[in-house]
Amino acid sequence: MPIVDNSLLFVENIYKSFDNQPVLRDITFGAAQGAIVALLGPSGSGKSTLLRCIAGLEHPDRGAIWFAGERIDTVPPHARGFGLMFQQYALFPHRTVAENVAFGLRMQGWPRERIRRRVAEMLALVGLEGYEDRDVLDLSGGEQQRVALARSLAPQPRLLMLDEPLGALDRALRDRLLDEVRGILKHVGVTALYVTHDQQEAFAVSDWLVLLHEGRIVQQGVPEAVYRRPNSPFAAQFFGVEN
Ligand code: ADP
Ligand code: MG
Repeated sequence: MPIVDNSLLFVENIYKSFDNQPVLRDITFGAAQGAIVALLGPSGSGKSTLLRCIAGLEHPDRGAIWFAGERIDTVPPHARGFGLMFQQYALFPHRTVAENVAFGLRMQGWPRERIRRRVAEMLALVGLEGYEDRDVLDLSGGEQQRVALARSLAPQPRLLMLDEPLGALDRALRDRLLDEVRGILKHVGVTALYVTHDQQEAFAVSDWLVLLHEGRIVQQGVPEAVYRRPNSPFAAQFFGVEN
């Protein structure tokens, strides 16, 4: 059962096709205030399309998206107040860390001094204190993703969407950063949708896990329950356990 009553975000019966090919079918789930919800599934299962629908970058064919009790699926993307963080092309190259983190704040017209303070605060949050003047291309992959996280959190999004944020990093670094990312999201208290194809990553990061297969939700629940009691051959195989 989806969380309905205390959901900050509620996605209701979303359908989406491209060229008559269904990509999302009957997608219904909720995210409670402050929860980290993992959207987990193999490549092509519709995870990014679902995020793009919630962000307003794609329009669902049917269904509704609710946020804080209001229907938001006709609200333009920038007016939704949501933040996005992607695996690739996350940062503006040949710009400083500070310019990158300040991006959303400039768009919102924050005064210069407030931007400076907010950037410093965000860099401290992600463990990059004093990195303001570094060129992002001189940073390691892990540091770049920290900057991307700082940038997406700086304007205080009402919902943060992360699409395979650690996907480009090797396993050891990913595991290390994952705990930190969860800690940062929890510290800030932001409600987050975390897309990944990696079941270990989804399990470690989320409070609620939504498993997608061929555009449908095959199972959702607290991660331990989904992992221990897969309800379908697909889920059992995906988690690599006998059922
Ligand atoms: P995932 O993020 O889980 O890998 P996607 O949401 O990117 O999955 O893609 C789901 C399916 O939708 C794939 O078959 C993909 O080819 C298709 N798809 C995604 N975007 C488009 C598009 N703009 N036009 C046509 N097909 C698309
Ligand atoms: Mg994707």
